[in-house]
Amino acid sequence: MKDTKELYAKSLEIAADHALAFVNSLDRRSAGASSDLSTLRSRMSKPLASEGIPPEQVLLELVRDVEGGLTGSAGGRFFGWVIGGSIPAALGADWLTSAWDQNAGIYATSPAAAVAEEVAGHWLKEILGLPDDASFAFVTGCQMAHTTCLAAARHGLLARRDWDVEQRGLFGAPPIRIVTSDQRHGTVDRAARLLGLGLTQIHILPSDPQGSLRGIDLQRYLETDRDVPTVVILQAGDVNTGAFDSFETLIPIAKRFGAWVHVDGAFGLWAAASPEYRHLVQGIEAADSWATDGHKWLNVPYDCGYAFVRDGESHLASMSHHESYLIQQAGARDPVDWNPEFSRRARAFPTYAALRQLGRVGVARLVERCCRHAKSLVTRIGQLPGAEVVATPIINQGLVRFIAPHPGASALDSDRRTDEVIAAIDRGGEAFFGGTTWRGRRAMRVSVSSWQTRDEDVDRAVLAVATALKS
Ligand SMILES: *Cc1c(COP(=O)(O)O)cnc(C)c1O
Repeated sequence: MKDTKELYAKSLEIAADHALAFVNSLDRRSAGASSDLSTLRSRMSKPLASEGIPPEQVLLELVRDVEGGLTGSAGGRFFGWVIGGSIPAALGADWLTSAWDQNAGIYATSPAAAVAEEVAGHWLKEILGLPDDASFAFVTGCQMAHTTCLAAARHGLLARRDWDVEQRGLFGAPPIRIVTSDQRHGTVDRAARLLGLGLTQIHILPSDPQGSLRGIDLQRYLETDRDVPTVVILQAGDVNTGAFDSFETLIPIAKRFGAWVHVDGAFGLWAAASPEYRHLVQGIEAADSWATDGHKWLNVPYDCGYAFVRDGESHLASMSHHESYLIQQAGARDPVDWNPEFSRRARAFPTYAALRQLGRVGVARLVERCCRHAKSLVTRIGQLPGAEVVATPIINQGLVRFIAPHPGASALDSDRRTDEVIAAIDRGGEAFFGGTTWRGRRAMRVSVSSWQTRDEDVDRAVLAVATALKS
């Protein structure tokens, strides 16, 4: 037994020491990765040994070999994609989740994990302003939240047409169409692929200049064929501009035609947590399903998304799973009935911990702080010579663009210039930004989701952009 104790002690001490050293160094580290592919491969691709080595050696070498291949995305100067850090209680709870090593598939395999999920699910609905009787699932991310919600939608829409999709599959079923906007996230398409709904069944409507769907376009399209089972997918928070569809306008239209309304709110749904930004999601509670992430704006470690469904029966019918060897505890909630995985990580613990550390006010402040920093970054970068604002953040996402300096420069020259400046900033390591194509033109995305970002980080990032612009 002593051996086991020692092995654990060494492994966990090394992990704790290096984890602390890492999070404490985020202020000084490069925001992006600094080692290239071949360096990482040459360090990490060792031959698979026939004999193992002591755990402390494994960990020390791992720490050494990944150096430079980790981004500073857990820190305050990483503004690429939509990436949050980890607040301390969530990180601690995530470690414990691994140490406890619970299988959160059913109540019987981990009663505490099942209850944590039940409680955290209720808290999430409360903070996000969703119906308190909506069913929910803790999944790996928003991608799987879409998949879970759309599986419920598929069941619900086809059950109304006397087609049991779980029994009969989709061959011969009435085709379901998906109506959404040209600004939808790619994970919507992947969910349609995974569920056998098919990409050609997605009908794409153009969005307005801000990136939101127009009511008149939705209405006209739905009028074309009233009898087709339909899912309307709306967005809370576009990745480029943070734009919101108007739920107040669009959901009642979709409902008039009997459509199932699903909302992609990967990060934007969190606007509901702030009194200052809540108006953006006005009317969202009338939708049928909602997908969001914990690992983005709530700042819990990765592997955390949430699906919510109004019609719990359709949700249950699409996912539930009973077998004689599973033990069903009367009155308990078995996660396997609500999510697509069977054995799974007890991913509710970090969410439970995050919501307790932050409280309602803490989540609201986190959301507001990120929005304030995003606005300030876009405004200040836009004022630098050779830069212009493309989209001022509505919430925590905005766009800027860099103009080619020579006289008579074309839009294409400025596209190139924009990519060059982004690359120069990222090479510098003081801040990390990503690029995007918005309305046919290249732009730099400014995306702030980390609890770590402070005023000093914004100052450092603006300076880094100014330096790159002079190069
Ligand atoms: C990130 C994102 C997704 C996908 O979420 P994952 O957690 O990466 O699966 C979907 N929609 C939007 C708007 C996003 O920003």
